[in-house]
Amino acid sequence: MPEWPELERFQSEFRDFVAERDWDQFHTPKNLAMALVGEVGELLEQFQWLTAEQSAELSPEQLEEVAHEIADVQIYLAALADRLGISIGPAVARKMALNAEKYPPEKVRGSAAKYTAYQAPTASTGKTDPEST
Ligand SMILES: [Mg+2]
Repeated sequence: MPEWPELERFQSEFRDFVAERDWDQFHTPKNLAMALVGEVGELLEQFQWLTAEQSAELSPEQLEEVAHEIADVQIYLAALADRLGISIGPAVARKMALNAEKYPPEKVRGSAAKYTAYQAPTASTGKTDPEST
């Protein structure tokens, strides 16, 4: 049974979309990663120059544009994972577990600081040790 059936259906549909156009030759992991970042840029462009308040109160037309860019980001992210044989669901679960270790609520509640900001420096280098949490 698929771990994330809807996503896997999109990945399969995208594989067919690409194959029908003979675009697989262009879809190397490097190119898919670059396309993903390009689409993230297009998503950011939707918010460029807006105030924080304006960004939280988008018009229906703006929301539809944002939805299109979110879809583009998701398509390339799913395609990259598919191309590399990475199952996104389990990868997300593993990373969330790591994040929970890095950011224990009793240490970080109410703070937006990166985990390295509250770790003790290591004795040998004086730098924070990301593995020490
Ligand atoms: Mg786009």
